[in-house]
Amino acid sequence: MAEALKLTTRDFQSDQDVRWCPGCGDYSILANVQRVMPELGVPRENFVFISGIGCSSRFPYYMNTYGMHTIHGRAPAFASGIKASRPDLSVWVVTGDGDGLSIGGNHLLHTIRRNIDLQILLFNNRVYGLTKGQYSPTSRLGMKTKSTPEGAIDHPVDPIAFALGASATFVARTVDVHASHLKYVLERAHAHKGTAFIEILQNCPVFNDDEWLEVEDRKQRADTTLVLEDGKPLVWGSEGQRRGIRIENGIPSIVKLADDQDPAARGVAIHYERHESPAYAFALASLQRPEFPVPIGVFRAVKRPTYETMLEDQVTSAIEQRGRGDLRALLHSGDTWTVEA
Ligand code: SF4
Repeated sequence: MAEALKLTTRDFQSDQDVRWCPGCGDYSILANVQRVMPELGVPRENFVFISGIGCSSRFPYYMNTYGMHTIHGRAPAFASGIKASRPDLSVWVVTGDGDGLSIGGNHLLHTIRRNIDLQILLFNNRVYGLTKGQYSPTSRLGMKTKSTPEGAIDHPVDPIAFALGASATFVARTVDVHASHLKYVLERAHAHKGTAFIEILQNCPVFNDDEWLEVEDRKQRADTTLVLEDGKPLVWGSEGQRRGIRIENGIPSIVKLADDQDPAARGVAIHYERHESPAYAFALASLQRPEFPVPIGVFRAVKRPTYETMLEDQVTSAIEQRGRGDLRALLHSGDTWTVEA
């Protein structure tokens, strides 16, 4: 711990040349992750960054920590194995909308439902960048890309709803260039015991420029972004444009508010992260532009035992009852047979 307290941002910068396109949102995410790491009180040798394939998956090269650039969509599987065998490590998964939700959708789902104590950062730029601009599982309906010249006809996956559907215990959304918010969400995710899933809205200036301009641009974001704060009303909007979200029977609607009006008097919902039922968080996940603002912040944070803790308990209990096992004896026990040539 004493060593961890002395670490600086520089300690987490590797000697590798960063090879993302100029202006890519990944630069900002990397800089902010490197800024947060020294403050987490974890020795540098206890951090592990695991990625799959894609632009975002170059991340472990740029972190001066342990890490693995693994195979397409399988980062959650590698990370699960590492965390199950070394629960003392701080294990982070970096993936993208294609890697995590298409090729690796199955792996992501099962990792989240097990509640393994990992931080999963999903960079969502709504396009395949590394392979030069095909539509991804999060591309909007009608979005024209190299592989959808007439417009996408697949209904998109919403990453937040996906994570909630997999029973995630911590679900959040933040923005690549929103440094203070990104830092806050990373710290919250690290403090959570269990799988912390974070969608990071990320700009790909080469193949899908300005996809998130409304929430990235300082001048626009007051009227397009709903910042979730536990215990505070769901209110957004600049002066004269103040609005609130009312949720009735799970269905959200917008109410107009005067600048000095008490939101509670108009039935505006109060944000609460710890609902056992995911229904409220699902209602927030359904808020989509252009009708609604984009919610950012922590949608849900609930407690549930972690997979690695329960695994360790089972192993300890089995050893107490039956003693330490002998793998060779086990393999040669019971119903065995010899295959004759
Ligand atoms: Fe970033 Fe897009 Fe370039 Fe990939 S293709 S590095 S996501 S700008």
